[in-house]
Amino acid sequence: MSKSWQCPFCSHHAIIGTGNISSGNLSFDDGNKYGKLCLRLETITCPNPNCREFTIESELRELKKTHPSYVFGNTLSSWKLRPQSSAKPLPSYIPTAIKEDYEEACLILNLSPKASATLARRCLQGMVRDFWEVKPQNLAKEIESIKDEVEPDTWEAIDVVRKIGNIGAHMERDIDQIIEVDENEAGLLIGLIEMLIEEWYISRYNRQQRLENMKQLGQDKDIQRRMKVKPVTLE
Ligand SMILES: [Zn+2]
Repeated sequence: MSKSWQCPFCSHHAIIGTGNISSGNLSFDDGNKYGKLCLRLETITCPNPNCREFTIESELRELKKTHPSYVFGNTLSSWKLRPQSSAKPLPSYIPTAIKEDYEEACLILNLSPKASATLARRCLQGMVRDFWEVKPQNLAKEIESIKDEVEPDTWEAIDVVRKIGNIGAHMERDIDQIIEVDENEAGLLIGLIEMLIEEWYISRYNRQQRLENMKQLGQDKDIQRRMKVKPVTLE
């Protein structure tokens, strides 16, 4: 059996087959109040020759008795053991404070959506201040002040997140204030941050690189041209 997979270490997309995946099941009962359960452990190794990192995930599932054996029932819990969060690897030119807030927001998402959302909002504010150089106010006003600067699609995405759940209502408040959010809402904020990092920082960097390459190419051509027109001295 094969499945499509994206490596959390190098972002490489791959089809994972039996050669890159190992798993094991531990079933137990021991008179626990949930009945027969199965703890499943799975590791996947990245086939990218420059990476070869591996992930470890585990899940706890119910086992339902059917004749003559058992089948898997509901998943009761799941854990990411390595890496411990779904944070995407970010390039080194992203400011450290933004990177740290993003990674911590991802790390704590399942355990505490509230703490995750607080970190995600701080991360968003850090990005708005750093990238757009806006005057520090509260987050809602800061976002409002970049409305004419960002692409309408991007603004719409921010607006959708503002409208969903409680996040919109809390954006007006101070970012240090703890807010009540569920895992989905906190996950949406993380998704928004990933999109904005891509659209702002990564696009800007790629554009600068392309311009730099063009400039370099122009200079190289210029040197070549000058070498060609060098006057030939007659003997
Ligand atoms: Zn990889």
